[in-house]
Amino acid sequence: MTDDELLAHAPIARDGVLGGLSHRSTAASSRARRCRPWLAGWPRKGRALPLGATVVDVEPGLVRTSRGDVFADSIVLATGHDVDGLFPRVAEDAGLRRCALHMLRVAAPGGRRIEPALLTGLALLRYRGFADCPSLPAVRDRLERERPDLLAVEMNLMLTQRPDGELVIGDTHEYADTPPPFKDERLDDLILEEAAALLGVDRLEVHERWQGVYAHAPDRDFLIAAPLDGVRVVAVTSGIGMTTALGLAPRVLDDLLATAA
Ligand SMILES: Cc1cc2nc3c(=O)[nH]c(=O)nc-3n(C[C@H](O)[C@H](O)[C@H](O)COP(=O)(O)OP(=O)(O)OC[C@H]3O[C@@H](n4cnc5c(N)ncnc54)[C@H](O)[C@@H]3O)c2cc1C
Repeated sequence: MTDDELLAHAPIARDGVLGGLSHRSTAASSRARRCRPWLAGWPRKGRALPLGATVVDVEPGLVRTSRGDVFADSIVLATGHDVDGLFPRVAEDAGLRRCALHMLRVAAPGGRRIEPALLTGLALLRYRGFADCPSLPAVRDRLERERPDLLAVEMNLMLTQRPDGELVIGDTHEYADTPPPFKDERLDDLILEEAAALLGVDRLEVHERWQGVYAHAPDRDFLIAAPLDGVRVVAVTSGIGMTTALGLAPRVLDDLLATAA
């Protein structure tokens, strides 16, 4: 899109806008929490893994939980960033660490509507989907020259509007085996400054602050390991698990069930 087309799509500040890409997208709300009641119906559909149980050990054909043992020919362990709890060697071999992110929920300035999810140039550096773009080195060079502070905190400036009109803005990234519980206010300030500049306003009104954690590995988007017969350990290791889950899950299951057959 040209700069004018982009601004017609998204009411942001004109300053610095060169152009854009548009892509139809669907937003998934992590607050919806619809999975739990759906999973509660599972005893009718197949084998029951008790809700509210902690998995304490996995052996071929057996999952030991804090609410009793469950037997299954095929087992998928998808414990997010906690792979190291049950399979520390798998986590170590993949270089798995925890990535802590800062995000904020803010009021939409002037009640404005922003239909698309907005990503900025920083996202081009972050997502491997853009890795082959010939212009990527030029974007990186410019950011290294002009905004090393944003690269230092691995900022991925983006925002999404919730159905109630509030904006979710983010985010910065820090890596650790165990992220500290302390949130550095300067990271939130930086996100707020950059998001305000993107929207062309002086300040944003914060409603909520959020530090999230996901699994990260340095060289891959997904970790799929087979440490035991009939067992797969699966983690999304680049913060794209909401987007890719419905493609990843059937791929893992097809492979696991084909091996079991
Ligand atoms: C702030 C933030 C923003 C994000 N934004 C996006 C985005 O815009 N797009 C996108 O695609 N992705 C995004 N992600 C990433 C996405 O949320 C993750 O990739 C995804 O949630 C991974 O799903 P999962 O089911 O593998 O792991 P999780 O969602 O981490 O779920 C793992 C579950 O396993 C449970 N568990 C762990 N150990 C045990 C045990 N021993 N016994 C029983 N249960 C256990 C945990 O309690 C947890 O409920 C974001 C993540 C964060 C934190």
